[in-house]
Amino acid sequence: MSTSSSRISGFHNLSMAERLEKVIEVAGLNPDVANHMGNTGNLTGEIADSMIENAIGTMNIPIGVATNMVVDQQDTLIPMATEESSVVAAVCNAARQCRDSGGFITSMSGSLMIAQVQLVDVPNPEFARLQILEHKADIKQICDETDPVLLKHGGGFRDVEVRVLEGSHTGTMVITHLIVDTRDAMGANAVNSMAEAVAPLIAKWTGGRTYLRILSNLADRRLARARATWTLDAIGGESVRDGILAAYEFADIDPYRAATHNKGVMNGVSAVVLATGNDTRAVEAGAHAYAAQTGRYRSLTHWEADRDGNLTGMIEIPMPVGLIGGATKSHPTARIALDIMAVKSADQLARTIAAVGLAQNFSALKALATTGIQKGHMALHAKNIAVMAGAIGTEIEAVARDLVKLGKVRVDIAEEVLSKLRG
Ligand code: NAD
Repeated sequence: MSTSSSRISGFHNLSMAERLEKVIEVAGLNPDVANHMGNTGNLTGEIADSMIENAIGTMNIPIGVATNMVVDQQDTLIPMATEESSVVAAVCNAARQCRDSGGFITSMSGSLMIAQVQLVDVPNPEFARLQILEHKADIKQICDETDPVLLKHGGGFRDVEVRVLEGSHTGTMVITHLIVDTRDAMGANAVNSMAEAVAPLIAKWTGGRTYLRILSNLADRRLARARATWTLDAIGGESVRDGILAAYEFADIDPYRAATHNKGVMNGVSAVVLATGNDTRAVEAGAHAYAAQTGRYRSLTHWEADRDGNLTGMIEIPMPVGLIGGATKSHPTARIALDIMAVKSADQLARTIAAVGLAQNFSALKALATTGIQKGHMALHAKNIAVMAGAIGTEIEAVARDLVKLGKVRVDIAEEVLSKLRG
Protein backbone atom coordinates (compact mmCIF):
# COMPACT_ATOMS: atom_id res chain seq x y z
CA MET A 1 0.00 0.00 0.00
CA SER A 2 1.23 3.49 -0.82
CA THR A 3 1.83 6.08 1.86
CA SER A 4 1.44 9.05 -0.49
CA SER A 5 -0.79 11.93 0.44
CA SER A 6 -4.47 12.02 -0.51
CA ARG A 7 -4.14 15.78 -0.93
CA ILE A 8 -3.94 16.00 -4.72
CA SER A 9 -4.16 19.62 -5.68
CA GLY A 10 -6.05 20.36 -8.91
CA PHE A 11 -7.19 16.73 -9.24
CA HIS A 12 -10.63 17.75 -10.50
CA ASN A 13 -9.09 19.81 -13.30
CA LEU A 14 -7.35 16.78 -14.81
CA SER A 15 -8.81 14.67 -17.62
CA MET A 16 -10.19 11.25 -16.67
CA ALA A 17 -7.07 9.52 -18.02
CA GLU A 18 -4.78 11.89 -16.12
CA ARG A 19 -6.72 11.41 -12.90
CA LEU A 20 -6.46 7.65 -13.30
CA GLU A 21 -2.71 7.92 -13.87
CA LYS A 22 -2.42 10.01 -10.72
CA VAL A 23 -4.43 7.52 -8.66
CA ILE A 24 -2.33 4.62 -9.93
CA GLU A 25 0.80 6.53 -8.91
CA VAL A 26 -0.47 7.64 -5.48
CA ALA A 27 -2.02 4.27 -4.61
CA GLY A 28 1.03 2.44 -5.91
CA LEU A 29 -0.99 0.23 -8.28
CA ASN A 30 0.28 -1.86 -11.15
CA PRO A 31 0.23 0.40 -14.28
CA ASP A 32 -1.78 -2.35 -16.05
CA VAL A 33 -4.78 -1.15 -14.05
CA ALA A 34 -5.00 1.71 -16.58
CA ASN A 35 -6.06 -0.72 -19.33
CA HIS A 36 -8.84 -2.15 -17.21
CA MET A 37 -10.12 1.17 -15.91
CA GLY A 38 -9.70 2.88 -19.29
CA ASN A 39 -12.40 0.61 -20.69
CA THR A 40 -15.60 2.33 -19.61
CA GLY A 41 -17.87 -0.14 -21.42
CA ASN A 42 -21.17 1.17 -22.70
CA LEU A 43 -21.04 4.36 -20.64
CA THR A 44 -18.62 6.67 -22.41
CA GLY A 45 -15.95 8.36 -20.36
CA GLU A 46 -17.37 11.68 -21.48
CA ILE A 47 -20.80 10.95 -19.96
CA ALA A 48 -19.33 9.40 -16.81
CA ASP A 49 -17.14 12.48 -16.34
CA SER A 50 -20.18 14.74 -16.65
CA MET A 51 -22.21 12.72 -14.14
CA ILE A 52 -19.98 12.88 -11.06
CA GLU A 53 -16.86 14.66 -9.82
CA ASN A 54 -13.31 13.30 -10.08
CA ALA A 55 -14.41 10.37 -12.26
CA ILE A 56 -11.67 7.85 -13.12
CA GLY A 57 -13.76 5.12 -14.74
CA THR A 58 -16.97 3.15 -14.53
CA MET A 59 -18.07 -0.03 -12.84
CA ASN A 60 -20.18 -2.55 -14.66
CA ILE A 61 -22.94 -4.36 -12.80
CA PRO A 62 -24.89 -7.13 -14.54
CA ILE A 63 -28.41 -6.36 -15.72
CA GLY A 64 -30.72 -9.36 -15.66
CA VAL A 65 -34.27 -9.41 -16.94
CA ALA A 66 -36.95 -10.91 -14.74
CA THR A 67 -39.61 -12.70 -16.78
CA ASN A 68 -43.17 -13.82 -15.97
CA MET A 69 -44.32 -10.53 -14.41
CA VAL A 70 -47.88 -9.48 -15.10
CA VAL A 71 -48.57 -6.01 -13.73
CA ASP A 72 -52.10 -4.66 -14.05
CA GLN A 73 -52.94 -7.23 -16.72
CA GLN A 74 -49.85 -6.35 -18.74
CA ASP A 75 -46.92 -8.67 -19.33
CA THR A 76 -43.85 -6.70 -18.28
CA LEU A 77 -40.14 -7.47 -18.56
CA ILE A 78 -38.18 -6.21 -15.57
CA PRO A 79 -34.55 -5.04 -16.02
CA MET A 80 -32.63 -5.46 -12.77
CA ALA A 81 -29.10 -4.17 -12.11
CA THR A 82 -27.60 -6.13 -9.25
CA GLU A 83 -24.38 -7.80 -8.20
CA GLU A 84 -26.21 -10.38 -6.06
CA SER A 85 -27.10 -13.82 -7.36
CA SER A 86 -30.65 -15.17 -6.80
CA VAL A 87 -32.30 -11.74 -6.95
CA VAL A 88 -33.51 -11.97 -10.56
CA ALA A 89 -34.47 -15.64 -10.22
CA ALA A 90 -36.53 -14.85 -7.12
CA VAL A 91 -38.68 -12.36 -9.03
CA CYS A 92 -39.14 -14.77 -11.98
CA ASN A 93 -40.27 -17.55 -9.62
CA ALA A 94 -42.66 -15.44 -7.59
CA ALA A 95 -44.19 -13.93 -10.73
CA ARG A 96 -44.65 -17.37 -12.33
CA GLN A 97 -46.49 -18.64 -9.26
CA CYS A 98 -49.07 -15.83 -9.29
CA ARG A 99 -49.58 -15.52 -13.07
CA ASP A 100 -52.66 -17.75 -13.10
CA SER A 101 -54.25 -15.81 -10.27
CA GLY A 102 -53.88 -12.51 -12.14
CA GLY A 103 -50.37 -11.30 -11.36
CA PHE A 104 -49.90 -7.99 -9.57
CA ILE A 105 -52.49 -5.25 -9.13
CA THR A 106 -51.03 -1.84 -8.36
CA SER A 107 -52.04 1.69 -7.39
CA MET A 108 -50.34 4.92 -6.36
CA SER A 109 -51.18 7.62 -3.84
CA GLY A 110 -49.91 10.41 -6.12
CA SER A 111 -46.65 12.02 -7.16
CA LEU A 112 -46.27 14.50 -4.31
CA MET A 113 -42.87 15.34 -2.85
CA ILE A 114 -42.19 17.33 0.31
CA ALA A 115 -39.58 20.06 0.70
CA GLN A 116 -38.76 21.25 4.21
CA VAL A 117 -37.75 24.73 5.37
CA GLN A 118 -36.33 24.94 8.89
CA LEU A 119 -37.06 28.14 10.80
CA VAL A 120 -35.46 28.93 14.18
CA ASP A 121 -35.27 31.87 16.62
CA VAL A 122 -39.01 32.51 16.70
CA PRO A 123 -40.26 33.27 20.23
CA ASN A 124 -43.91 32.67 19.25
CA PRO A 125 -43.78 29.55 17.02
CA GLU A 126 -47.52 28.81 16.94
CA PHE A 127 -48.15 32.42 15.85
CA ALA A 128 -45.46 32.04 13.16
CA ARG A 129 -47.10 28.84 11.99
CA LEU A 130 -50.30 30.73 11.18
CA GLN A 131 -48.35 33.59 9.57
CA ILE A 132 -46.81 31.11 7.17
CA LEU A 133 -50.10 29.31 6.44
CA GLU A 134 -51.76 32.69 5.67
CA HIS A 135 -49.29 33.15 2.82
CA LYS A 136 -50.31 29.98 0.95
CA ALA A 137 -51.14 31.92 -2.22
CA ASP A 138 -47.76 33.73 -2.18
CA ILE A 139 -45.94 30.47 -1.54
CA LYS A 140 -47.75 28.85 -4.45
CA GLN A 141 -46.81 31.70 -6.74
CA ILE A 142 -43.11 31.57 -5.78
CA CYS A 143 -42.93 27.79 -6.11
CA ASP A 144 -44.66 27.73 -9.48
CA GLU A 145 -42.54 30.60 -10.82
CA THR A 146 -39.43 28.65 -9.79
CA ASP A 147 -40.25 25.76 -12.14
CA PRO A 148 -42.46 26.79 -15.08
CA VAL A 149 -41.51 23.60 -16.97
CA LEU A 150 -42.92 21.46 -14.18
CA LEU A 151 -46.04 23.61 -14.23
CA LYS A 152 -46.38 23.05 -17.97
CA HIS A 153 -46.33 19.29 -17.35
CA GLY A 154 -49.24 19.50 -14.91
CA GLY A 155 -47.13 19.62 -11.75
CA GLY A 156 -46.30 22.36 -9.28
CA PHE A 157 -47.20 23.53 -5.78
CA ARG A 158 -50.15 21.76 -4.15
CA ASP A 159 -50.17 22.64 -0.44
CA VAL A 160 -48.27 23.99 2.55
CA GLU A 161 -48.15 22.46 6.03
CA VAL A 162 -46.34 23.79 9.10
CA ARG A 163 -45.15 21.75 12.08
CA VAL A 164 -43.71 22.99 15.37
CA LEU A 165 -40.90 20.78 16.74
CA GLU A 166 -38.97 21.01 20.00
CA GLY A 167 -35.20 20.69 19.66
CA SER A 168 -33.26 20.13 22.88
CA HIS A 169 -30.31 22.34 21.79
CA THR A 170 -31.69 24.61 19.08
CA GLY A 171 -35.02 25.28 20.82
CA THR A 172 -38.35 25.43 19.05
CA MET A 173 -38.27 24.98 15.29
CA VAL A 174 -41.01 25.86 12.86
CA ILE A 175 -40.84 23.46 9.93
CA THR A 176 -42.65 24.36 6.71
CA HIS A 177 -43.52 21.58 4.28
CA LEU A 178 -44.00 22.55 0.65
CA ILE A 179 -46.04 19.85 -1.02
CA VAL A 180 -45.29 19.71 -4.70
CA ASP A 181 -46.53 17.49 -7.50
CA THR A 182 -43.40 16.56 -9.44
CA ARG A 183 -45.17 14.38 -12.07
CA ASP A 184 -42.65 12.41 -14.15
CA ALA A 185 -39.62 13.81 -12.28
CA MET A 186 -38.28 12.35 -9.04
CA GLY A 187 -38.25 16.01 -8.13
CA ALA A 188 -35.38 16.49 -5.68
CA ASN A 189 -33.85 19.38 -7.57
CA ALA A 190 -37.25 20.82 -8.37
CA VAL A 191 -38.44 21.02 -4.76
CA ASN A 192 -35.04 22.01 -3.37
CA SER A 193 -35.08 25.08 -5.62
CA MET A 194 -38.58 25.95 -4.41
CA ALA A 195 -37.56 25.61 -0.74
CA GLU A 196 -34.61 27.94 -1.35
CA ALA A 197 -36.84 30.47 -3.10
CA VAL A 198 -39.49 30.50 -0.36
CA ALA A 199 -37.16 30.49 2.69
CA PRO A 200 -36.22 34.23 2.74
CA LEU A 201 -39.90 35.17 2.72
CA ILE A 202 -40.69 32.79 5.58
CA ALA A 203 -37.93 34.50 7.54
CA LYS A 204 -39.33 37.92 6.63
CA TRP A 205 -42.96 37.08 7.51
CA THR A 206 -42.06 35.59 10.91
CA GLY A 207 -38.95 37.49 11.96
CA GLY A 208 -37.07 34.20 12.44
CA ARG A 209 -34.01 32.70 10.74
CA THR A 210 -34.12 29.88 8.17
CA TYR A 211 -31.49 27.16 8.00
CA LEU A 212 -32.11 23.96 6.05
CA ARG A 213 -34.05 24.01 2.80
CA ILE A 214 -34.23 20.56 1.26
CA LEU A 215 -36.59 17.75 0.32
CA SER A 216 -37.63 14.99 2.68
CA ASN A 217 -36.82 11.51 1.45
CA LEU A 218 -39.70 10.21 3.54
CA ALA A 219 -41.89 10.46 0.45
CA ASP A 220 -45.09 9.34 2.17
CA ARG A 221 -47.26 11.26 -0.30
CA ARG A 222 -45.82 9.13 -3.08
CA LEU A 223 -46.73 5.64 -2.00
CA ALA A 224 -46.67 2.84 -4.55
CA ARG A 225 -48.87 -0.13 -3.74
CA ALA A 226 -49.00 -3.65 -5.13
CA ARG A 227 -50.94 -6.75 -4.19
CA ALA A 228 -51.12 -10.31 -5.48
CA THR A 229 -52.68 -13.67 -4.64
CA TRP A 230 -50.82 -16.98 -4.67
CA THR A 231 -53.14 -19.99 -4.66
CA LEU A 232 -52.46 -22.90 -2.35
CA ASP A 233 -51.94 -25.11 -5.41
CA ALA A 234 -49.37 -22.74 -6.85
CA ILE A 235 -47.29 -22.52 -3.70
CA GLY A 236 -47.54 -26.13 -2.55
CA GLY A 237 -50.24 -26.18 0.09
CA GLU A 238 -51.20 -24.94 3.51
CA SER A 239 -47.94 -25.69 5.27
CA VAL A 240 -46.02 -23.43 2.88
CA ARG A 241 -48.60 -20.68 3.32
CA ASP A 242 -48.51 -20.96 7.09
CA GLY A 243 -44.72 -20.89 7.04
CA ILE A 244 -44.81 -17.67 5.00
CA LEU A 245 -47.38 -16.12 7.35
CA ALA A 246 -45.27 -17.04 10.38
CA ALA A 247 -42.16 -15.59 8.70
CA TYR A 248 -44.03 -12.36 7.97
CA GLU A 249 -45.31 -12.03 11.52
CA PHE A 250 -41.81 -12.58 12.88
CA ALA A 251 -40.58 -9.67 10.71
CA ASP A 252 -43.45 -7.43 11.72
CA ILE A 253 -42.80 -7.80 15.46
CA ASP A 254 -38.99 -7.98 15.51
CA PRO A 255 -36.75 -5.25 14.04
CA TYR A 256 -33.79 -7.68 13.87
CA ARG A 257 -35.78 -9.85 11.50
CA ALA A 258 -37.52 -6.90 9.79
CA ALA A 259 -34.17 -5.41 8.71
CA THR A 260 -33.34 -8.58 6.76
CA HIS A 261 -36.90 -9.03 5.53
CA ASN A 262 -36.95 -5.47 4.16
CA LYS A 263 -33.43 -5.85 2.77
CA GLY A 264 -34.88 -8.66 0.69
CA VAL A 265 -37.67 -6.39 -0.54
CA MET A 266 -35.02 -3.80 -1.47
CA ASN A 267 -33.00 -6.44 -3.37
CA GLY A 268 -35.75 -6.24 -5.95
CA VAL A 269 -36.63 -2.57 -5.58
CA SER A 270 -33.09 -1.16 -5.69
CA ALA A 271 -32.12 -3.33 -8.68
CA VAL A 272 -34.86 -1.77 -10.83
CA VAL A 273 -34.27 1.69 -9.39
CA LEU A 274 -30.58 1.41 -10.34
CA ALA A 275 -31.23 -0.11 -13.78
CA THR A 276 -33.52 2.81 -14.63
CA GLY A 277 -30.97 5.42 -13.50
CA ASN A 278 -32.97 6.47 -10.46
CA ASP A 279 -31.70 7.38 -7.00
CA THR A 280 -31.31 4.15 -5.00
CA ARG A 281 -30.43 6.00 -1.78
CA ALA A 282 -33.55 8.18 -1.94
CA VAL A 283 -35.80 5.14 -2.37
CA GLU A 284 -33.96 3.16 0.31
CA ALA A 285 -34.02 6.01 2.86
CA GLY A 286 -37.73 6.55 2.22
CA ALA A 287 -38.56 2.86 2.50
CA HIS A 288 -36.78 2.35 5.81
CA ALA A 289 -38.14 5.58 7.32
CA TYR A 290 -41.63 4.54 6.24
CA ALA A 291 -41.13 1.07 7.75
CA ALA A 292 -40.50 2.77 11.11
CA GLN A 293 -43.39 5.21 10.95
CA THR A 294 -45.42 3.55 13.72
CA GLY A 295 -42.48 4.07 16.08
CA ARG A 296 -41.23 0.53 15.57
CA TYR A 297 -39.32 -0.69 12.51
CA ARG A 298 -41.68 -3.12 10.77
CA SER A 299 -42.25 -5.13 7.60
CA LEU A 300 -42.85 -3.18 4.39
CA THR A 301 -45.10 -6.01 3.21
CA HIS A 302 -48.20 -7.62 4.72
CA TRP A 303 -49.30 -11.24 4.24
CA GLU A 304 -52.69 -12.81 4.96
CA ALA A 305 -54.76 -15.84 3.99
CA ASP A 306 -57.96 -15.11 2.06
CA ARG A 307 -61.38 -16.74 2.55
CA ASP A 308 -60.38 -19.66 0.30
CA GLY A 309 -57.15 -20.16 2.17
CA ASN A 310 -54.95 -18.67 -0.57
CA LEU A 311 -51.96 -16.52 0.29
CA THR A 312 -52.39 -12.79 -0.31
CA GLY A 313 -49.54 -10.30 -0.16
CA MET A 314 -49.35 -6.53 -0.35
CA ILE A 315 -46.73 -3.82 -0.22
CA GLU A 316 -46.99 -0.07 0.29
CA ILE A 317 -43.73 1.80 -0.11
CA PRO A 318 -42.58 5.37 -0.86
CA MET A 319 -41.37 5.36 -4.45
CA PRO A 320 -39.84 8.66 -5.57
CA VAL A 321 -38.66 7.66 -9.05
CA GLY A 322 -38.75 9.56 -12.33
CA LEU A 323 -38.52 9.15 -16.06
CA ILE A 324 -36.74 12.43 -16.61
CA GLY A 325 -34.02 14.18 -14.66
CA GLY A 326 -30.93 12.76 -12.97
CA ALA A 327 -29.31 9.78 -14.66
CA THR A 328 -32.63 8.52 -16.08
CA LYS A 329 -32.00 10.63 -19.15
CA SER A 330 -28.21 10.91 -19.22
CA HIS A 331 -27.34 7.22 -18.81
CA PRO A 332 -27.94 5.40 -22.11
CA THR A 333 -28.43 2.02 -20.38
CA ALA A 334 -31.09 3.52 -18.11
CA ARG A 335 -33.02 4.68 -21.14
CA ILE A 336 -32.86 1.18 -22.64
CA ALA A 337 -34.01 -0.30 -19.31
CA LEU A 338 -37.03 2.02 -19.37
CA ASP A 339 -37.75 0.90 -22.95
CA ILE A 340 -37.58 -2.77 -21.89
CA MET A 341 -40.21 -2.09 -19.24
CA ALA A 342 -42.22 0.01 -21.70
CA VAL A 343 -43.36 2.30 -18.89
CA LYS A 344 -45.13 5.46 -19.97
CA SER A 345 -45.05 7.43 -16.71
CA ALA A 346 -43.11 7.71 -13.46
CA ASP A 347 -46.29 6.55 -11.75
CA GLN A 348 -46.31 3.30 -13.77
CA LEU A 349 -42.60 2.80 -13.10
CA ALA A 350 -43.11 3.28 -9.35
CA ARG A 351 -46.04 0.84 -9.22
CA THR A 352 -44.11 -1.78 -11.17
CA ILE A 353 -41.13 -1.45 -8.82
CA ALA A 354 -43.44 -1.98 -5.83
CA ALA A 355 -44.69 -5.19 -7.48
CA VAL A 356 -41.09 -6.33 -7.90
CA GLY A 357 -40.45 -5.69 -4.19
CA LEU A 358 -43.46 -7.83 -3.28
CA ALA A 359 -42.38 -10.61 -5.66
CA GLN A 360 -38.90 -10.61 -4.16
CA ASN A 361 -40.32 -10.82 -0.65
CA PHE A 362 -42.59 -13.74 -1.60
CA SER A 363 -39.67 -15.80 -2.89
CA ALA A 364 -37.47 -15.04 0.10
CA LEU A 365 -40.23 -15.94 2.58
CA LYS A 366 -41.15 -19.09 0.69
CA ALA A 367 -37.54 -20.28 0.57
CA LEU A 368 -37.04 -19.46 4.25
CA ALA A 369 -40.25 -21.19 5.25
CA THR A 370 -39.46 -24.34 3.26
CA THR A 371 -36.03 -25.46 2.06
CA GLY A 372 -34.09 -22.60 3.64
CA ILE A 373 -32.47 -19.76 1.74
CA GLN A 374 -29.09 -21.38 1.11
CA LYS A 375 -30.23 -24.16 -1.23
CA GLY A 376 -31.37 -21.92 -4.08
CA HIS A 377 -28.93 -19.15 -3.23
CA MET A 378 -25.90 -21.40 -3.17
CA ALA A 379 -26.74 -23.03 -6.48
CA LEU A 380 -26.44 -19.58 -8.08
CA HIS A 381 -23.70 -18.39 -5.79
CA ALA A 382 -21.60 -21.41 -6.83
CA LYS A 383 -20.71 -19.60 -10.06
CA ASN A 384 -19.29 -16.66 -8.09
CA ILE A 385 -17.28 -19.06 -5.96
CA ALA A 386 -16.00 -20.82 -9.10
CA VAL A 387 -14.79 -17.46 -10.47
CA MET A 388 -13.17 -16.65 -7.12
CA ALA A 389 -11.28 -19.94 -7.37
CA GLY A 390 -9.94 -18.88 -10.78
CA ALA A 391 -12.34 -20.68 -13.14
CA ILE A 392 -12.73 -19.13 -16.58
CA GLY A 393 -14.99 -19.72 -19.57
CA THR A 394 -16.72 -23.12 -19.56
CA GLU A 395 -14.89 -24.06 -16.35
CA ILE A 396 -17.21 -21.76 -14.37
CA GLU A 397 -20.34 -23.78 -15.12
CA ALA A 398 -18.52 -27.11 -14.64
CA VAL A 399 -17.01 -26.16 -11.28
CA ALA A 400 -20.29 -24.63 -10.07
CA ARG A 401 -22.18 -27.81 -10.99
CA ASP A 402 -19.72 -29.96 -9.04
CA LEU A 403 -19.87 -27.70 -5.98
CA VAL A 404 -23.66 -27.95 -5.88
CA LYS A 405 -23.49 -31.73 -6.39
CA LEU A 406 -21.01 -32.00 -3.51
CA GLY A 407 -23.22 -29.73 -1.39
CA LYS A 408 -20.12 -27.70 -0.53
CA VAL A 409 -20.10 -24.26 -2.12
CA ARG A 410 -16.70 -23.16 -0.80
CA VAL A 411 -13.68 -21.57 -2.43
CA ASP A 412 -11.23 -24.21 -1.16
CA ILE A 413 -13.40 -26.99 -2.63
CA ALA A 414 -13.77 -25.02 -5.86
CA GLU A 415 -9.97 -24.80 -6.13
CA GLU A 416 -9.70 -28.59 -5.72
CA VAL A 417 -12.42 -29.21 -8.30
CA LEU A 418 -10.78 -26.78 -10.70
CA SER A 419 -7.34 -28.31 -10.40
CA LYS A 420 -8.82 -31.81 -11.00
CA LEU A 421 -10.70 -30.46 -14.00
CA ARG A 422 -7.48 -29.03 -15.42
CA GLY A 423 -5.77 -32.33 -14.83
P1 NAD B 1 -34.02 17.37 -12.66
O1 NAD B 1 -33.94 18.68 -11.95
O2 NAD B 1 -32.86 16.92 -13.45
O3 NAD B 1 -35.31 17.33 -13.60
C1 NAD B 1 -36.58 17.72 -13.17
C2 NAD B 1 -37.10 18.87 -13.99
O4 NAD B 1 -37.43 18.46 -15.31
C3 NAD B 1 -38.40 19.42 -13.43
O5 NAD B 1 -38.13 20.29 -12.37
C4 NAD B 1 -39.02 20.09 -14.64
O6 NAD B 1 -38.55 21.42 -14.77
C5 NAD B 1 -38.47 19.31 -15.82
N1 NAD B 1 -39.48 18.44 -16.52
C6 NAD B 1 -39.53 18.21 -17.86
N2 NAD B 1 -40.53 17.36 -18.16
C7 NAD B 1 -41.14 17.02 -17.00
C8 NAD B 1 -42.24 16.17 -16.67
N3 NAD B 1 -42.91 15.47 -17.59
N4 NAD B 1 -42.56 16.03 -15.37
C9 NAD B 1 -41.88 16.69 -14.42
N5 NAD B 1 -40.85 17.54 -14.67
C10 NAD B 1 -40.47 17.70 -15.95
O7 NAD B 1 -34.33 16.19 -11.65
P2 NAD B 1 -35.17 16.06 -10.33
O8 NAD B 1 -36.16 14.96 -10.60
O9 NAD B 1 -35.68 17.36 -9.82
O10 NAD B 1 -34.06 15.54 -9.30
C11 NAD B 1 -33.57 14.22 -9.36
C12 NAD B 1 -32.08 14.21 -9.10
O11 NAD B 1 -31.79 14.88 -7.87
C13 NAD B 1 -31.55 12.82 -8.93
O12 NAD B 1 -30.37 12.70 -9.69
C14 NAD B 1 -31.21 12.74 -7.44
O13 NAD B 1 -30.15 11.84 -7.21
C15 NAD B 1 -30.84 14.15 -7.13
N6 NAD B 1 -30.93 14.59 -5.73
C16 NAD B 1 -31.46 13.82 -4.74
C17 NAD B 1 -31.53 14.29 -3.43
C18 NAD B 1 -32.15 13.46 -2.35
O14 NAD B 1 -32.03 13.77 -1.15
N7 NAD B 1 -32.85 12.40 -2.65
C19 NAD B 1 -31.07 15.57 -3.14
C20 NAD B 1 -30.54 16.35 -4.17
C21 NAD B 1 -30.47 15.84 -5.46
